[in-house]
Amino acid sequence: MKSFHRVVIAGGGTAGWMMAALMSKLLGKRLDIKLVESEEIGTVGVGEATIPALHTFHNLLGINEAEFMAATNATFKLGINFEGWKDIGQDYFHSFGTTGNDHWSAGFQHFWLKGRAEGLAKTYTDYNPETVAAFANRFAHVPRNGLNYAYHLDATRYAKYLRAMSEGYGVKRIEGKIAQVLKHGPEAGPERDGDIAALQMQDGSRIEGDLFIDCTGFRSLLLGEALGVGYEDWSYWLPCDRAVAVQTTSVRDPWPYTRSIAHPFGWQWRIPLQHRVGNGLVYSSKELSDADAPDMLRQNVEGELITAPRLIKFTPGQRNKVWERNCVAVGLASGFVEPLESTSIHLIQRAAIRLMQLFPAGGVSQGDVDEFNLQSKRELEHIRDFIVLHYHVNERTDSALWKHVREMNILPSLQHRIQLFRETARVFRPSDELFAENSWVQVMMGQGITPERYHPVADLMGRQELNNFLSDIQVKVSRTIAGLPTHKAYVDQLCAPY
Ligand code: FAD
Repeated sequence: MKSFHRVVIAGGGTAGWMMAALMSKLLGKRLDIKLVESEEIGTVGVGEATIPALHTFHNLLGINEAEFMAATNATFKLGINFEGWKDIGQDYFHSFGTTGNDHWSAGFQHFWLKGRAEGLAKTYTDYNPETVAAFANRFAHVPRNGLNYAYHLDATRYAKYLRAMSEGYGVKRIEGKIAQVLKHGPEAGPERDGDIAALQMQDGSRIEGDLFIDCTGFRSLLLGEALGVGYEDWSYWLPCDRAVAVQTTSVRDPWPYTRSIAHPFGWQWRIPLQHRVGNGLVYSSKELSDADAPDMLRQNVEGELITAPRLIKFTPGQRNKVWERNCVAVGLASGFVEPLESTSIHLIQRAAIRLMQLFPAGGVSQGDVDEFNLQSKRELEHIRDFIVLHYHVNERTDSALWKHVREMNILPSLQHRIQLFRETARVFRPSDELFAENSWVQVMMGQGITPERYHPVADLMGRQELNNFLSDIQVKVSRTIAGLPTHKAYVDQLCAPY
């Protein structure tokens, strides 16, 4: 069996260092791991909102939350406020966690719909602790059935934090530019012919390896360029193909949620950290020119600009395969759907864990490769459908972009989900899908779908019983949140020892 212990990670953005950290922690003693990055090229410099699944990754790495938050100037995130997505002036919140109490046969929305029909129910979000806490700007680790949260973090600091950890586990960092990706020829034997053999660096050195992880960002130098793996373009459904980003000073205490503000040409994010705010416009180049985008962003931020506007071009979609021969692409090199639901860092984590689960024993097995590709594809397609939902179900009439996404043909999988919810208020989640029932319900109702019916189990409750059921939940939520400290006070106190 051939030797298989030299791993080369190309790229040191969030993807490269997350990959390095996990791999070195779990397999560092068995592997020789090198990471190549170029300070001159730098990283994409965005990607600062996460989702709660990041806790799994941090637990695997044994990360201390307070230390991590202090090191990355992180804040807590309870969800995303979608402003003007349904129509101008109409907002909704997509929170983490759950809303109300479910019955085994029917989600809370069925009981809420009946309550609303009978004039008993308050706003749907009043039954969701994360939303109530977000708008009250409060946070704490609540014991038992606590708030479900993620983080806003400084991406550059996060990469540094993971770098220190990875180097501690033996990863060797190499600074420099990759000039060429070298492949084995027929002399290496049929098993290796065509595989990547080494990275040829601009300074003339060569970095040889058995397994190569392509974390070179949108360039996809190894998988895309060297191995010629094609790209599936999803811009018909997701027409935004540009972003411009700036960092600004904070003018208020950080709120514990991401803001996503719709515009005629796309949308805008605001991500509050402890020390600054991350801002960006995601737009369609058919609706806004690259020359005008920075000014448009400047007009829509608060505080002083700390960085110059940075333009990022992308094509939403995914590589036809993310593992080909002895190369696995992770992060932007593997594909990109919009940052609308902050899913890219999560996908890096998933890829890192998946690669650990399917790590080649003595050489690459085609079964492992196929399984990796299948799982990755399915995962990203689920996320794509969820993001397309936000665009498709809209009532905006202020630009060709919103008209196109409303009228476009959507994939049957999403069409079915929308129809099922519209007719019956039901949502079913395939077991391996990221977004749960509560997410779909909040976004579908937020975007303006009102179900025509609810589950008959809700009719088994009499009027008084339903009233008690709803008000018990709402009072409990409101009391719990009223007793919490402000988000800023909690973050300051947590990070103070570090
Ligand atoms: P990069 O950060 O681009 O890193 C590439 C690395 O490869 C760098 O170290 C670079 O130096 C190196 N490299 C490239 N070429 C060479 C070469 N020739 N020689 C040597 N080194 C080389 N994700 C989220 O989860 N949440 C968000 O809120 C979010 N917002 C986003 C907003 C936008 C506009 C965009 C575009 C993305 C967003 N993402 C978000 C995605 C997130 O930014 C990325 O998934 C994450 O930063 C990982 O990027 P990366 O490491 O794959 O690539």
